[in-house]
Amino acid sequence: MALIVQKYGGTSVGNVDRIRNVAQRVAKFRARGHQVVVVLSAMSGETNRLIALAKEMQANPDPREMDVMISTGEQVTIALLSMALRDLGIKSRSYTGWQVPIRTDNAFTKARIESIPDARMRTDLNDGNVVVVAGFQGIDSDGNITTLGRGGSDTTAVALAAALKADECQIYTDVDGVYTTDPRIVPEARRLRTVTFEEMLEMASLGSKVLQIRSVEFAGKYKVKLRVLSSFEEEGDGTLITFEEDKNMEQAIISGIAFNRDEAKITVLGVPDKPGIAYQILGPVADANVDVDMIVQNVGHENTTDFTFTVHRNDFAKAMDVCKKTAATIGAREVIGDDKIAKVSIVGVGMRSHVGIARKMFEALANDGINIQMISTSEIKISVVVEDKYMELAVRVLHQAFNLDKAA
Ligand code: ADP
Ligand code: ASP
Ligand code: MG
Repeated sequence: MALIVQKYGGTSVGNVDRIRNVAQRVAKFRARGHQVVVVLSAMSGETNRLIALAKEMQANPDPREMDVMISTGEQVTIALLSMALRDLGIKSRSYTGWQVPIRTDNAFTKARIESIPDARMRTDLNDGNVVVVAGFQGIDSDGNITTLGRGGSDTTAVALAAALKADECQIYTDVDGVYTTDPRIVPEARRLRTVTFEEMLEMASLGSKVLQIRSVEFAGKYKVKLRVLSSFEEEGDGTLITFEEDKNMEQAIISGIAFNRDEAKITVLGVPDKPGIAYQILGPVADANVDVDMIVQNVGHENTTDFTFTVHRNDFAKAMDVCKKTAATIGAREVIGDDKIAKVSIVGVGMRSHVGIARKMFEALANDGINIQMISTSEIKISVVVEDKYMELAVRVLHQAFNLDKAA
């Protein structure tokens, strides 16, 4: 007998029939003698609908009230699944995040899980119940409802698996695993049988939304066995996130390609080239609570330099205002911004032991006339910023250049 946490995403619980299918799958695991905790998302489109409604009321909705609102979608699906399970003769109890309780900090709309007492769930499981928990939500120390950021149900599931020391956490979604890139953009993308935790972390942080990044961080920290599977297929092994590289296979150099359209670029031109300039420009940006991603400072000439960085598109206007003020104080010539950019990244632990990967990436992009605006690298990834209209082309070109459609 194993203890399994299963998470089903929005499409997988998109209507009553699909919720019945989820109940059937859960029933199959119960019939094999396993204990099951299920985490659900809201029905697909529901969280977007709720956010739009809030924005109709207030241009910048109050974050506390926003969380009261957007946490409701999950309350509907957990009750429906619990009903469906009872129809199949399976004992089940559904819980909202605050009933469990899933304790978080008070950062509304992007709260972090701090602890999950497991007593209530253990009692239910030992009584033969399936425990059905609302994803994406928790409660802060003052009793306020919080949510965990978009895609947060993945994190609920992995955190529950860690708290319960579950044997496996299964993320059921509308694709049958983690692919070399988003199969919606590249139909030739291939399912990975395994992907290392490190690579998954990079892919999630660089834009592959198949798993929320915090769920991968949790899995790494608590060594949760994590698998991504399809909720629409009867059987299948999906993709296992592994903690060791697969020694039996020739490791592919590049495992995947991630992309992200959520960034914007700001350049401060004609900055006096002297010590402390990066701090003077980025300090006020950080004080305005804006995260900075890529940073490039050019070699100075004639005592001035240009300084470029990227921020989330939602923070673009705010960061531009901050930089214009800074530019006036430090004597920079001009601030220009561009929110029509995209970041495309190749990821693979095999990069550590191979040379010439960057060359191959830049050559492939050049052959298709795609201009690179910024570059950043780490040990296992190379990211480039390109004009956003070239993003999909760049992903396809790189997928082909690195032969990702062929098994390693
Ligand atoms: P859910 O609602 O089940 O959480 P998501 O939409 O959040 O589902 O995540 C699944 C989607 O992630 C897929 O439909 C796919 O389009 C997208 N995706 C992006 N990158 C990848 C990738 N590398 N592998 C698989 N799916 C990916
Ligand atoms: N319903 C939430 C969202 O759409 C959480 C999730 O689905 O993981 O972001
Ligand atoms: Mg998701």
